[in-house]
Amino acid sequence: IASLHDAGKKFFFHRVLKNINLEVKKGEILGLIGPSGSGKTTCIRCMLGMEDLTEGEAFVLNEQMPKRKVLDRTGYMGQETALYGTLTAYENMVFFGQLKNLSKETLQTEIDKNLKLVDLYEYRNKVVTQFSGGMKRRLSLAITLLGSPEFIVLDEPTVGIDPKLRLSVWNQLSALADEGKGLIVTTHVMSEAEKCDRVALLVDGEILAVGTPEDLMREFKAASIEEVFINME
Ligand code: ATP
Repeated sequence: IASLHDAGKKFFFHRVLKNINLEVKKGEILGLIGPSGSGKTTCIRCMLGMEDLTEGEAFVLNEQMPKRKVLDRTGYMGQETALYGTLTAYENMVFFGQLKNLSKETLQTEIDKNLKLVDLYEYRNKVVTQFSGGMKRRLSLAITLLGSPEFIVLDEPTVGIDPKLRLSVWNQLSALADEGKGLIVTTHVMSEAEKCDRVALLVDGEILAVGTPEDLMREFKAASIEEVFINME
């Protein structure tokens, strides 16, 4: 559904990504893990054409990126939330939903569905300044999923979300993959990485390994993905 081919990225003289070959398949969650500063955010932004590659190519839904029309079929959630604090959760969803060119009826149905998905339906009429950090993340996720994007890119979606809700968010992401969407998700939570269909390890801007969690544990002779992470450097 999306891929990088021999991709490289330099910020001035700083080479942040080197020779990246990575594919996100339809129906899977690909977890992207690696130390802080290893290039995860840059990698997913390059995949979506939000950053220009200095080498190689990015494809999403069979189109070479960047391509505006493809972005309507993708959802991106960055590390920072961009919400209107003085508007309610519901009003934020209407505002961002309108940018996605959905019909009024579809927008209405999706707003209700997505607010329920992230467990914020009962808070829909609260202004966002009164939300906790985790609630803002969940609202951002609900907004990202408006329009049923086929390719979903999430940068640390569960930061600040408590373990119980985190599990529920993760189950919702798995359900999206089961529906045939393709997801790439960065995380520092290794128990989440273990729930991904495949995991890519990024170290110093290079992909060190990609495979199912079981494959990686075997390759690194580790009993968990956490142990893979600790042993890999
Ligand atoms: P974290 O886990 O802490 O979020 P990350 O793996 O997502 O980190 P990136 O945010 O992709 O890492 O950053 C990779 C490297 O690229 C870092 O050294 C960072 O300083 C550098 N970098 C990122 N964006 C820019 C930019 N716009 N200009 C210059 N350097 C940048």
